[in-house]
Amino acid sequence: MKKIALITGAGRGLGWELTNQLTKHGYFVIMGVRDEQKGLAAWERLPEKNAASVMVLDMEDQASFPQVYAQLEKRNGKLDLLVNNAGVMLDGDLMKNSTNTISAELLKKTFDVNFFGIVALTNTLVPLLLKSTTPAIVNISSNMGSLHLLATEPAMPKTFAYNTSKAALNAYTLHLAYLLADTPVKVNAVHPGWVKTDMGGDAAPLEAAEAVASIVQLILQGANAPTGQFLHQGQEVKW
Ligand code: NDP
Repeated sequence: MKKIALITGAGRGLGWELTNQLTKHGYFVIMGVRDEQKGLAAWERLPEKNAASVMVLDMEDQASFPQVYAQLEKRNGKLDLLVNNAGVMLDGDLMKNSTNTISAELLKKTFDVNFFGIVALTNTLVPLLLKSTTPAIVNISSNMGSLHLLATEPAMPKTFAYNTSKAALNAYTLHLAYLLADTPVKVNAVHPGWVKTDMGGDAAPLEAAEAVASIVQLILQGANAPTGQFLHQGQEVKW
């Protein structure tokens, strides 16, 4: 039986490229998308269409997560890989001043997608991951969530909502890895690099294909993968 992966935010950017590469490595990928029509158009662009399907999944709609569990359980009976990729950067243009100027609403929306949604979805799906022999959770984080880099690199962009939401995601990664240490579930956070996507922009040095290839390398390690790590192209990033 094929390995089953759920990738959130799979309709474009890194999520689509992860889907593309994992289907070529023998995974069946369920593409979590907010908008079914746009998701189907993204699915249509895949070279390996038969190895993927689309599931409506809005990270802000936590009430729908038990239904996501039920659908996955009914169709596949297990989940081998969860990639928490969906994310937003809503204060990218506020940068340095965003600690002062960001609205409570924007801060909350950022955390709803980048943190609370991920925590709720992951906690819902852990029982299904435990039915796999080589389960893994990959949280797509950012070096902008590294407190070490924020403290030591003056050039690190200061986008308050995004930085803090990814720092919280990193802390969750460590907690979950600790909690699941006696199980086969590998839990890691990954910094993909600065990548040309809608979020990363055209000035970014990395193509999505290159950034995703190193994440796929980690995934393909299966039972030999590390757990509780924050990684960029196979190297540790300081938390
Ligand atoms: P994009 O902006 O290109 O894509 C973001 C994805 O997240 C889209 O698929 C979008 O779906 C989805 N999304 C946003 N909000 C929700 C929601 N409420 N529910 C479900 N899906 C949602 O970003 P990237 O591909 O660049 O980013 C992917 C991940 O990588 C993010 O977590 C980001 O923080 C991280 N990252 C990216 C970097 C970069 O340089 N690009 C650098 C470091 C980290 P929709 O199409 O419906 O809007």
